[in-house]
Amino acid sequence: MTEHKASFSTTCPQCGHEVPPAAEACPDCGKAIAGPVTPSDPWELWSKESQTRKMLWTGAVITFWVSIVILGILYVIQNKLSLVVLSIAAGMLFLGVWLKTRYQLHLRKEPDRPTQDVRAD
Ligand SMILES: [Zn+2]
Repeated sequence: MTEHKASFSTTCPQCGHEVPPAAEACPDCGKAIAGPVTPSDPWELWSKESQTRKMLWTGAVITFWVSIVILGILYVIQNKLSLVVLSIAAGMLFLGVWLKTRYQLHLRKEPDRPTQDVRAD
């Protein structure tokens, strides 16, 4: 995947030295730069949100299956199901389905990629 390169750079808030966009600290005085300040790039924002949603969804699905496994173990060992774990599993199933729907809706709103299809004259 090619990285989207923006043609801007930031300046150090402490010494005013020019700092490359990818840098985490000022090369001149060493002051830490608090993340890239790029709220105006819709593709960047979109892909970040996309990642967050995907992570949340994966988390919900994993929690769901872990709860199911715990329920299964409890059932085998004690011959009973834990209501707490059962409600967690149900909640995570619901959350997972909801997040998946949100994620798919989100994917449909994909903005134009700035670095792709550039070669078409
Ligand atoms: Zn500096």
